[in-house]
Amino acid sequence: MIDFGLVDFWGISDSDKQLDRLLDSRLKSAWEDYKNKKIPIKFKPFTSKRTKNIMLEDYSLNNSDEGMYELRIYFKSSPNKYIQKLVDDILQDVKRNTKVQFVEANDYHDAYYVIYNLLDRNVSSLKAKFEEKIGKATKISVVAYEKRWTRGDRYRIRFLRYNYLSLNRCAYCGKKVSINPNLHISKVPTLEVDHIIPVDKLMYDKKTADGISYRELAKQLGITRADSPFNLVASCPECNKKKGTNVAGYIKKGYIFGKHPRLWSLIIGIRIIVPIILFALFVMCVN
Ligand SMILES: [Zn+2]
Repeated sequence: MIDFGLVDFWGISDSDKQLDRLLDSRLKSAWEDYKNKKIPIKFKPFTSKRTKNIMLEDYSLNNSDEGMYELRIYFKSSPNKYIQKLVDDILQDVKRNTKVQFVEANDYHDAYYVIYNLLDRNVSSLKAKFEEKIGKATKISVVAYEKRWTRGDRYRIRFLRYNYLSLNRCAYCGKKVSINPNLHISKVPTLEVDHIIPVDKLMYDKKTADGISYRELAKQLGITRADSPFNLVASCPECNKKKGTNVAGYIKKGYIFGKHPRLWSLIIGIRIIVPIILFALFVMCVN
C-alpha cells in the first residue's frame, strides 16, 4: 500500500487484493503527478468494464446481510451497575445461543448497546427479554433496525475505492472538492461522501412530503440498501450541511449528477458561454 493520507485515514483492508492492486496503480500515477507538481491532478473516470464487475461483485457480497437486524438499546438515563449486570447477563446468554450469528455490545452510535447481525426470528424474543428484565427497573427503549437500511462503517472507503479518480466535483453544486485532505489544495473544500437518501429516513422508514415511503423511493431508484453505491455521492461540506432543509431537491440532483458526474462540466461550460453569447448579441443589436 502506498502512503496516501486518506487511504490510511479510513483504514483500507487487504481483503480484496485484486482491487487493491488495480487501485494502487491508479493512485500511484496520481501521486506521482502530485509529487512532480502537476497540480491540480487531472482525474480520469474509473470506468473500465472489469472494475465495474469487481464493484458489483463486492457490493453483492455486502448484500449477504439481507434479513439481518441490529438491536439498539437506549437508556433514558445512565444505567447503574445493577442494570449493567442485568444487560451483561442477557448478552452472555445471547452469546451462548447458537442461533445468533454474532453479538457485540458497545456504546457505538447514540445507543448504549448495539447487538449486530441478529436473524429476524431472534429479534422479537431478545427484545422481549430486555424489556421484561430491565424495563421494570429503568426506562429503556429497545429498537430493532433492519441492517440494510443502517449506515455501515466502511461505506466511505468503499465509495472512494471505486470512484477515486472520477471524483472532483460536488454532485449537488458542481464545486470542485479535494479528495485527500492532506493535499492541502488551497481553497478547495474536502470531499464528503453523502447518502443521497439520508440514512435516518431509511432507518426509521419515514415518509416524503408526498406521503411516499423513503424506502419505496429508494427501491424505485435502484437503491436496495443505505450504503448502496447508487445511494452515495461526492459532496462539498456546505451542500451536505444545507441538504437538511431541502431533502427532495437534493435527492433529485444527487441521483442525476451522482450517475453522471461529468454533467457538471457541461453545465459550468454553458453557464460561462451563454452570458458571453447574450452579451455579444446585445452589443450587435446596440450597434
Ligand atoms: Zn456542493
